[in-house]
Amino acid sequence: MQILDPIDPILAFHSEIQQIRRDIHAHPELCFEEHRTSDVVAGKLQEWGIPVIRGLGTTGVVGIIKHGSSSRAIGLRADIDALPMQEINNFAHTSKHEGKMHACGHDGHIAMLLGAAHYLSRHPVFDGTVYVIFQPAEEGGGGAKRMMDDGLFEQCPMDAVFGMHNWPGAAAGSFGVTAGPMMASSNEFEVIVKGKGAHAAQPHKGIDPIIVAIQIAQSWQTIISRNASPLESAVLSVTQIHSGSATNVIPDDATLIGTVRGFSTEMIDLIESRMQKIAEHTAAAFDAQVDFKFKRNYPPLINHARETAFATEVMRSVVGEAQVNDKVEPTMGAEDFAFMLQAKPGCYVFLGNGDGEHREMGHGLGPCNLHNPSYDFNDDLLPIGATYWVRLAEAYLKKTI
Ligand SMILES: [Zn+2]
Ligand SMILES: [Zn+2]
Repeated sequence: MQILDPIDPILAFHSEIQQIRRDIHAHPELCFEEHRTSDVVAGKLQEWGIPVIRGLGTTGVVGIIKHGSSSRAIGLRADIDALPMQEINNFAHTSKHEGKMHACGHDGHIAMLLGAAHYLSRHPVFDGTVYVIFQPAEEGGGGAKRMMDDGLFEQCPMDAVFGMHNWPGAAAGSFGVTAGPMMASSNEFEVIVKGKGAHAAQPHKGIDPIIVAIQIAQSWQTIISRNASPLESAVLSVTQIHSGSATNVIPDDATLIGTVRGFSTEMIDLIESRMQKIAEHTAAAFDAQVDFKFKRNYPPLINHARETAFATEVMRSVVGEAQVNDKVEPTMGAEDFAFMLQAKPGCYVFLGNGDGEHREMGHGLGPCNLHNPSYDFNDDLLPIGATYWVRLAEAYLKKTI
């Protein structure tokens, strides 16, 4: 792991940024409840003389670093929320909040962006405005959308927006990115099959919703294999089936719940319409009925070609060509930064977090994977991530004179 052209003040600031990262790790907060986190972020920015806007998306914070006279602007975004799960590490900075944990590394994302903000405010070699965006509620809350609904891009007009996520399993300090779809759209469904309850010994007097639900779940499995293009990827998983309360009762209804993922809105449209048709017609064939609910959560995350090429050059300049994979495999995970990329051009990248060798004594025995109770962000990445943000902003807002 190396930085080709390290920025001395960022290296000198490493221990302070690491301390902030660990403090935030020890005090995780969930979707839209990130009040302490928001106070820490806004407090640091203000302490460093950076004006802030607060309250976008409830607990969002935006720092404004302006220099020169250009109206051009770039947005750099970090997510700030934690997950509702119990940490099993017991090193010094382990979570002090029962049942809550920074298991996705958003504590590290905050720290890397704070490190960049600190440097950019003191050594501004650019012409324009850098907005550092600290966004709440990435983990299912759609905080990106909420910040936008509250006027993020109107109050902070910017030409492009960039995001970054640590990526366990990829070599520490390497970058992964790809133009086009990089993360999936995530959606959920809840389908209630309404039959007619009866004594289990008299099935002919009822309409068994369990049999109908099973038929529907089975038939849905033909959508990906028979209706979707074999050259495109998608997932339809039934993850819950609920029905019944006794061995001798045919219940009134049965519920199917699950998730649908894909890399284009057209694919999700296709899957939703086929699911509904199969559910309704299968139910009709058994004289049952369905209540079909399909909820769109996050759209697919689509990196813009021009900004991705631009960001990739910056990554190469920071860590060297060999450490940048510009055709990284997309993932079926989802990410609400996708909303921002629907509104503004930009690019989202993965920063390798390594395999967990960085973890200190006292870490849990599980793998250092995202959403694992043994996970911890790799502090060695702090200067690399901060340097990427700084070089990206400087290059994007290059003085033209
Ligand atoms: Zn996560
Ligand atoms: Zn995350």
